[in-house]
Amino acid sequence: MNSVAAKTDLAFQKCIAPRCGATYGIDEIRVQCEVCGDLVDVVYDWDRARPPDSFAFFEQKWSRRADPLCASGVWRFFELLPFAPPSQVVTIGEGQTLLQSAPHVASYVGLKPGRLHLQYEGMNPSGSFKDNGMSAAFTHARTTGAARAACASTGNTSASLAAYCSVTRLMKAVIFVGSGKISYGKLSQALDFGALTVQIAGDFDDAMARVKEASRDLGIYLVNSVNPFRLEGQKTIMYRVLEGLRWEVPDWIVVPGGNLGNSSAFGKAFAELREIGLIDRLPRLAVINAAGANTLYELYHRRGVRWNQGSPDTGAIDGYYADLDSRGRRASTIASAIEINRPVNLNKCLRSLEWCDGVVREVTDQEIMDAKAQVGAGGLGCEPASAASVAGAKQLRSEGIIGADERVVCILTGHQLKDPTATVAYHTTDQDKFNEVLGSRGVKRAAFANRAVAVPNDLEEIIKAIQLYS
Ligand SMILES: *Cc1c(COP(=O)(O)O)cnc(C)c1O
Ligand SMILES: [Zn+2]
Repeated sequence: MNSVAAKTDLAFQKCIAPRCGATYGIDEIRVQCEVCGDLVDVVYDWDRARPPDSFAFFEQKWSRRADPLCASGVWRFFELLPFAPPSQVVTIGEGQTLLQSAPHVASYVGLKPGRLHLQYEGMNPSGSFKDNGMSAAFTHARTTGAARAACASTGNTSASLAAYCSVTRLMKAVIFVGSGKISYGKLSQALDFGALTVQIAGDFDDAMARVKEASRDLGIYLVNSVNPFRLEGQKTIMYRVLEGLRWEVPDWIVVPGGNLGNSSAFGKAFAELREIGLIDRLPRLAVINAAGANTLYELYHRRGVRWNQGSPDTGAIDGYYADLDSRGRRASTIASAIEINRPVNLNKCLRSLEWCDGVVREVTDQEIMDAKAQVGAGGLGCEPASAASVAGAKQLRSEGIIGADERVVCILTGHQLKDPTATVAYHTTDQDKFNEVLGSRGVKRAAFANRAVAVPNDLEEIIKAIQLYS
């Protein structure tokens, strides 16, 4: 079934390994290259696709918001991901997000006021950036006539898939989750939206392995981020960042790294914009791991693994995984959305790091929770994984890698209410609760705790407390 894409196709799929470069038709369902096993990209023949020659083209779509394809923050950029006919596009209003200047967080990070922006993806319909990718993968699934769609998830992908299935009724959702690690905010979404939820006795990496096998055996459409169409939707996060900056390229994009779909998509977004002449330079990219799930950091920062013109050192990568296995090491971090040891998009992320002169850092759970509290104090709520971007920016700033004057965009990947347990534990006065939720993760103190003030049910005492603390 090795169908080679026709020379006249406007969009097709292509193996990312330059030494292979096998091509596949756009309508194929493919999570890896059949020839060499590497990841595949969605690629476009830009000469024939004829993208707009100015960003103003996208801005004028604001005035046509009655059309769902113009209102969607993903499909407003249709001309930059033209893999399906407009009539097949699935949208539930994703991508109506916010790029907010955050002076309070800027000072925490060590940047001048006005130099730090937060791209808040918590505003998506299911509360995380995953909806950007899901609308694109779902669109592709629809063009293939799929009846069921599946994913393994630390929570947000499943919430997103479940939402698309229940809103559109185009497919049935089958969701694989690990046991114990998923936050209630996310699990509740999948259940509420009516998805078939299969809880595996294992962690995310186990759920991922099983969902691949089950989907293959049952012919179910897989929407995990190995799916190249997901990344097409996630490119639009960068288009909206540029739009929010009046189409000026920032100096840095800082993003948490889990399965590395975002970092992969962001690099591709900028490389394509340069290729078609809409920008003339790429921002630098910083990908931030949690210290308890730091495969990318270990490989890139410590062991020098690079894209290397499409031939990354697979020996070093396999050796690292074998070492993890032999020591029985499992990913462990409070930032459950990035609690992943085997990032499926590793090679694409390495490519993005090369395109964007990237850096990789790791941050502790303590740093993540402190940064999260600072983001909250600045008025935007995010879940722990999201705050890794801010903690990472702070670290890079203190190392002098990021300059105080540089323009930095941190991606806040998911909404605060996804994981209220972590937030309440951080701010709680109850030491047992704190230890139970955060202590086992190595979080020792809540430097920015906003404790509830306990008062008797007595007006005089209440008034005293308010005067004392406000
Ligand atoms: C999925 C997810 C991530 C990880 O993103 P990748 O693209 O897999 O690296 C980070 N934060 C949140 C909130 C997520 O849901
Ligand atoms: Zn290949």
